Amino acid sequence: MCDEPPSAGSLLKEFVSPGKGHWRDVSDEDWNSYRWQLQHRLTNLNQISTLMRLTPEEEAGFKLSGHKLATAITPYFFNLVEANDPGGPIRRQVIPRIEETHTAHWEMADPCGEDSHSPVPGLVHRYPDRVLLLVTDRCAAYCRYCTRSRLVSGASDYDFHPKIEQALTYIREHKEVRDVLVSGGDPLLLSDEKLDWLLGRLRAIRHVELVRIGSRIPIFLPQRVTPELCATLRRHQPLWMSIHTNHPRECTPEMKTACERLSDAGIPLGNQSVLLRGVNDDPVTMKALLQKLLMMRVRPYYIYQCDLITGSAHLRSSVSRGLEIMQSLRGHTTGYAVPQYVIDAPGGGGKVPVSPEYVIYRDEERVIFRNFEGKVFEYPEALSETAPQPTKPRQVEVV
Ligand SMILES: *Cc1c(COP(=O)(O)O)cnc(C)c1O
Ligand code: SF4
Repeated sequence: MCDEPPSAGSLLKEFVSPGKGHWRDVSDEDWNSYRWQLQHRLTNLNQISTLMRLTPEEEAGFKLSGHKLATAITPYFFNLVEANDPGGPIRRQVIPRIEETHTAHWEMADPCGEDSHSPVPGLVHRYPDRVLLLVTDRCAAYCRYCTRSRLVSGASDYDFHPKIEQALTYIREHKEVRDVLVSGGDPLLLSDEKLDWLLGRLRAIRHVELVRIGSRIPIFLPQRVTPELCATLRRHQPLWMSIHTNHPRECTPEMKTACERLSDAGIPLGNQSVLLRGVNDDPVTMKALLQKLLMMRVRPYYIYQCDLITGSAHLRSSVSRGLEIMQSLRGHTTGYAVPQYVIDAPGGGGKVPVSPEYVIYRDEERVIFRNFEGKVFEYPEALSETAPQPTKPRQVEVV
């Protein structure tokens, strides 16, 4: 072993613990306790500016964005923030900036039109066979680009009062609902008892075939994934979980342990990333992230084009960049590492896949397509028995 500091490239590949940093005098027991981490979250400008030097844009962001989305960062996650790099990929996700107070063209408070698809407060029923159930407005830390910033953190004057009993009644009465996605906010901030109760109530509904949890706890507060929590979740299978990781440096030994505990409890894990400018919108970073996820038994599920949430222009990357990244993945790494790139249609059309173009030409007789290296191939279309046989094969120009 040598003592040289790891290079930037290897940092993307290795599982490195952020350590205790400023909290080196705290006992291991406290540091590893999720209650201690939650109680010691950094939530205001004074606390954070004693620990790192903020830029004027960040200071102004703290002062002016507070009525929209609160700031909170667990000590554990704070130690991943790049103290000396204002453009750092972790820093951009959780430290507010003045740009959040700007409203660009097209931006909305409810970019996916969730409120208009909500039959009961806290329940969104957009797709035929599944619903989204928002059970809390709290998260362990707040993402500056959060698509639900209108309701999470309690900072805005949005009136969020989920009606769980009413939502359960709705699901019971809608037999077409076979899949319930429990999200928020972060459902894993509920107590073990409350989760046990909620999941038990959902599993008791005959037509609910599976329950899913959406959570960023393994990333922001991996200490919350205790053996007791896993024992609780294990009782409610089939239970799936989508976590939310954006950058390979978020993949620490602590997060790995949390994911392994969840997997060992029989919970298949998927990951959702948001494509963010300066965070993960380049092929090298994204591939490193996706490959690290596979090493933690997490299957990359979605990359989201960043929603048009008010004040997010500085964090949004372009669709053409997203497509370029997708193209750099397919064929160039493990198929399991390749998620679906989607845009949640503004206004409420749901998730729509967007993909680089592989099909160059298609008619009744053939498909002409290219592979990951750009080589062109032809596949003869299977002729249906009833269709008239083609008389003149059409000539296709391939350039
Ligand atoms: C994302 C989402 C779901 C789940 O969609 P999947 O593609 O099945 O993961 C369900 N309801 C709403 C409102 C959603 O936004
Ligand atoms: S964890 Fe999820 S719900 Fe919470 S602030 Fe981040 S994106 Fe929003």
